[in-house]
Amino acid sequence: MNHKYRKTVIAANWKMNKTPTETRTFGAELRRILPRGRWCEIVLCMPAICIPAGVKAMRDTRVNIGAENMYYETFGAFTGEISAPMLVDAGVKYVIIGHSERRAMGETDADINKKLIAALDAGLTPILCVGESLEQRKSGVTFEHITMQLKLDFQNIPPEQLRRIVVAYEPIWAIGTGLTATPEEAEEVCQHVRTVIRKLSSAKTARATSILYGGSMNGDNAAELLAQPDIDGGLIGGASLDPEKFVKIINAANQDAE
Ligand code: PEP
Repeated sequence: MNHKYRKTVIAANWKMNKTPTETRTFGAELRRILPRGRWCEIVLCMPAICIPAGVKAMRDTRVNIGAENMYYETFGAFTGEISAPMLVDAGVKYVIIGHSERRAMGETDADINKKLIAALDAGLTPILCVGESLEQRKSGVTFEHITMQLKLDFQNIPPEQLRRIVVAYEPIWAIGTGLTATPEEAEEVCQHVRTVIRKLSSAKTARATSILYGGSMNGDNAAELLAQPDIDGGLIGGASLDPEKFVKIINAANQDAE
């Protein structure tokens, strides 16, 4: 983490796991135990149907509500989709884009690029997910793969907009598996993400970009991961479903850093 140049972000990704009623219960408990904290931005990304309950439950706290996906068109005949302006109107501040579970359902880098542009235009902060599969890691193409994802996802996004994107490095083999990248493995790739951003944009943008790690982060391994210089937070699935477990990670992010 580096508090001087960029914000630390601790973001939950609930996936398809809570009802609106459960959102209210979670919110009440989180409000009760939420640490004051000095450094980190807290985000709860939740299913679209939970958003109104989440916004209400977290009103007047420093917890932001995020969505898990969105569509790139603003309105029209797109049955079942939700646009960026709709999310904004509902009180959403962040949106996850390009999660590996959505990429596995057919989302392409071209779709992701359009979603990033639409999210930025609407004033949302996108959390862009990139990451390699186990096969790609084993065959030594992790860096090339991530470079390619970033190049395609960032196409035609000017530096002043690019700076507003949070990038989450999520090795697919570590998501929901209990396998965590070691702090060194995670740092190496997050540092690479920053280098690619520097090349695609500028040193200033690269230094200002928050880069998160995601993949079985929990209260026991968070402090060590977050102590790495290029890891500016976490995107957390399983361990974000329980307020106490989530708060442990928030506390780990409140450590001092250079
Ligand atoms: C995720 O889905 O983004 C994730 C990191 O999940 P988990 O923490 O459960 O591995």
